[in-house]
Amino acid sequence: MRIFSEIKELVRVEKNFTQKVLRKLMVIEKEKLYCDLKYSSLYKYIVKELGYSDAEASIRVNATRLMLKSEVALTKIESGELTLTNAACANRILQGSRDQQFIEDVVGKASGCSTREFKKIVSEDYQIERRETLVLSEFMLLKFDRLRKVYGDLSTHELIQILLEKELSAPGKVQRVRKLSVKNSRFIPKGVKREVYTGECANCGVRHGLEYDHKLKFSHGGDNSVGNIQILCGACNRRKEIVARGMNLFC
Ligand SMILES: [Zn+2]
Repeated sequence: MRIFSEIKELVRVEKNFTQKVLRKLMVIEKEKLYCDLKYSSLYKYIVKELGYSDAEASIRVNATRLMLKSEVALTKIESGELTLTNAACANRILQGSRDQQFIEDVVGKASGCSTREFKKIVSEDYQIERRETLVLSEFMLLKFDRLRKVYGDLSTHELIQILLEKELSAPGKVQRVRKLSVKNSRFIPKGVKREVYTGECANCGVRHGLEYDHKLKFSHGGDNSVGNIQILCGACNRRKEIVARGMNLFC
């Protein structure tokens, strides 16, 4: 019947357009272009500007990030071997991993199977895949011994967990600069930091992952005065760097 061949052709065209959209999203994510529209993330941009639902946006953001991490994933998504849902699921498993072998392994498992099958494989293999061995120097072990005097006789693993929790739960955390302020230094004096701190990104208004930024870069003669320091989120700060370096290839 004609309707079957017609719908087949429409689906082929639809898939083609989805891939074109993903290619554009890759550029927008890579260059943090959404910051130009004052969005703090690709996700927010996709929901507000493109009208996708939360779930649709989440799948597209994760698939886009996976495509940026792995050429293999990009090829497989474009050939149809890797579905968007599985690509998104694979990216969530990878989180921030840059281990190319681990990435390719997860991509391989995600390809050519249903989401249910992939999730089953993952639940069986995931614990092993994410395990990481740490080699600690004697110097670091001594530091853990010192921590035990504060936290009690806990294992190194438990101490690392406490430190991670503490670090990740700090509210409105601004990237800390450890070195003390020195004259003619790029490190911003505490008094200036206190004065300019607004608790939100000057560009997109987001309230987490904030960084201090020199409006006129230190290397271009910008100083540490209140007028030259602002608060930006990580994405807007990266975007500013990209624009400054003239890496604006696609717009
Ligand atoms: Zn921002």
